[in-house]
Amino acid sequence: MPSIVGNLACQRNSYLRRLETTVVSCVPSTPKNNSSGTGSSEEKLKSIPLEKRPAADLKSFEIEFEDTVLFPEGGGQPEDHGLIKLCERTHASQPAEILITRIARHGLRAVHFSSSPLEPGTKVVQEVSWDRRWDHMQQHTGQHLLSAVMDTYQGLETLGWSMGASPSLMPNMNFVELGRKPTDAEISEIQHRCNSIIAENRQVTVDTPSDADTTSLPSDYDASQGLVRVVKIDGIDENPCCGTHLSQTSHISLILISHTQPIRGTNTRLYFTCGQRAITLATYSIRAARSIAGIVSASISDLENVISKVTKIDLELRDAKRAKRRLEAELAKFEAENIKRSFNGVTQIMEESGMASNNSSAGMDFILSLQSELKQPLTMFPNLTYDTTGLTILVTPTTYRDVGQGGITKEDGPGPMVILGDPTLVAKATERIRTDPILTDPPVQPATREGAKKAGNSGGGGIKGGGKGSRWQGKALKLGTAQINALRAISYSN
Ligand SMILES: [Zn+2]
Repeated sequence: MPSIVGNLACQRNSYLRRLETTVVSCVPSTPKNNSSGTGSSEEKLKSIPLEKRPAADLKSFEIEFEDTVLFPEGGGQPEDHGLIKLCERTHASQPAEILITRIARHGLRAVHFSSSPLEPGTKVVQEVSWDRRWDHMQQHTGQHLLSAVMDTYQGLETLGWSMGASPSLMPNMNFVELGRKPTDAEISEIQHRCNSIIAENRQVTVDTPSDADTTSLPSDYDASQGLVRVVKIDGIDENPCCGTHLSQTSHISLILISHTQPIRGTNTRLYFTCGQRAITLATYSIRAARSIAGIVSASISDLENVISKVTKIDLELRDAKRAKRRLEAELAKFEAENIKRSFNGVTQIMEESGMASNNSSAGMDFILSLQSELKQPLTMFPNLTYDTTGLTILVTPTTYRDVGQGGITKEDGPGPMVILGDPTLVAKATERIRTDPILTDPPVQPATREGAKKAGNSGGGGIKGGGKGSRWQGKALKLGTAQINALRAISYSN
């Protein structure tokens, strides 16, 4: 009979780092088991010998040992990581060690999720990833101490808590949820009292009283067969908890309270870190503060000055952004006037195409203002523009003439052309114009072609121009129905 959760080796001695033990059972894990709890399919699978189980189910295995030094998740404390080392391998293909990163409590059982199966009876050595466990113990015992100290304040009883994930580069903070926001004075007093108790090095012990209150146990934990553990901080606190705890408060080393955050109406989260995590966080914070102080040419020893300088820069930046928006709007008006003037000679407008300025993706204030400035006059010339997905192509041949009765004559000659829109779309469109066989068709007039060549038009004379970013301006040297259709195709394909 394997050790039950509540009496696992890691709970009896939380400083134990390795344990020799034996595999008791191994069943393939189903997706359902992977998420949570137990299922009847697990019972069904147990009855099938390992080698006869479907391959899809053999990706992960749920292994139980006689006992374990690896703590399953519980009490707000995440599971351990660790290694399972085989004392002897039964076949060459078997790995010498298996990394375990998931251990779950199923009722009274601790289930280890393994990438390889292990036959029951196999002797193994388990090794816990100590840095991770030590970090968890510092945060968890630290939380018990912090909550015990706050219990002595009116309205600051702990309603719940969450341990931030183990640090990778930047440490994550833990938080306790409280019924009200503590004052700044209370926070500094609480922090001071916690760190004084750490310095007093009080003993932390675990009792398993038979008459313990079982109301806080999880619903799937059978109290009649299980154990209730009560974690005591000498003279300070008694709290039922299944976690692995430090043996004395000095091992917490430090409690650093950070900030509060309102949650669920009047509740508050109070963020904190303990031990090495707090030291890492403080180190990062000092480094960040130094960098910021350097940027604003202030001394780190006068943080108030650093903050006031950063605040001032922020205000100035907001002003500058407002001024930029205003100037861009003015510039857009000015540009729009220019463009409208270029197109003023139009006497006949080409085929129908509405201007649906539905572009808002790129946040291009200027181009949007410009498009919006042009929108009103262009509704009078609805055929002048093709706009689909944020790209506007304005083009007209100066030589289109209305000859009455719906007739049009066209003569070759340069007409203004503007492409506006998202820089990516503009670049794509101009690239397509450069390579389009119809649009690069040389103009009819040789002189114009020569002119185009001199102007460095790589396309050979159809359209020339230049521009970067969201605005391209040029001339259409030749513009017939084929060219208009080609431009329309380019506009709509974006
Ligand atoms: Zn606890």
